[in-house]
Amino acid sequence: MPELPEVETVVQTLNKLVKGKNINEVSVHLARIIQRPSDPDEFCAILRGRSIHNIERRGKFIRFLLDGLVLVSHLRMEGRYGLYQSDEPVEKHTHVIFHFDDGTELRYKDVRQFGTMHLFSPGEEFVQPPLHKLGLEPLGPEFTFEAFREQISPRSTKIKPLLLNQERIAGIGNIYADEALFRAGIHPERTADSLTRKELLRLHEAIIETLQEAVSAGGSSIKSYVNGQGEMGMFQQSLNVYGRKDMPCNECGQLVAKTVLGGRGTHYCPSCQPLKRRKVRR
Ligand SMILES: [Zn+2]
Repeated sequence: MPELPEVETVVQTLNKLVKGKNINEVSVHLARIIQRPSDPDEFCAILRGRSIHNIERRGKFIRFLLDGLVLVSHLRMEGRYGLYQSDEPVEKHTHVIFHFDDGTELRYKDVRQFGTMHLFSPGEEFVQPPLHKLGLEPLGPEFTFEAFREQISPRSTKIKPLLLNQERIAGIGNIYADEALFRAGIHPERTADSLTRKELLRLHEAIIETLQEAVSAGGSSIKSYVNGQGEMGMFQQSLNVYGRKDMPCNECGQLVAKTVLGGRGTHYCPSCQPLKRRKVRR
């Protein structure tokens, strides 16, 4: 599932490809993608004639800012946007098409069909599902150490599942939770309330750095992620622990371990991230 950096890359790419375009017509081939309004015909009718002014991100959600309207799109597992010429054949699993007045089309493809689209009046999207309960934006100015500490510190749950809770911090998924904990030298099974102030400081910094590095790596290579069909792929930076079970840790050489935590595969280095609290690493 795309996480904050991948969605940010898609948003930056969409801004390059479709910002300023005018929607002539919208066609919906799979009704269940359209969550609001409930009638897909109404969805199409409302969007007709609107222009795309900007595309922004909130957590793992994409916000298309149109004139007098906001379209909130969630890619979930497999959702993909691609820009095509209208005479190009429509590929399988294409569920929504935005036809522009310049002969191009933004196509939404989703093999798993889990993605969603919601339409709102501007501002309304933040007080309604699915955005209304989203927590801190980790690359936003509100993600101060104190705000982070307030969300994390008082809780007795394990730190890894807490990082995945979108109502605390928005946008972190399984990959970047594992990576941030590795960078901070914190075992994923530590309880949040056991973390010292120094550990919290390290984790706060690690979250920002991990996400920012992934965003800039993705952002700097956007071109290679738009394939011949104009489809935006997902960037994934080189990772330290995620997906590296039984491979040597980049820091210490010990083999990366994998366990299941809160139903999610969890990767860590037993040496760099000891379960017992210990002296600060750096
Ligand atoms: Zn290590």
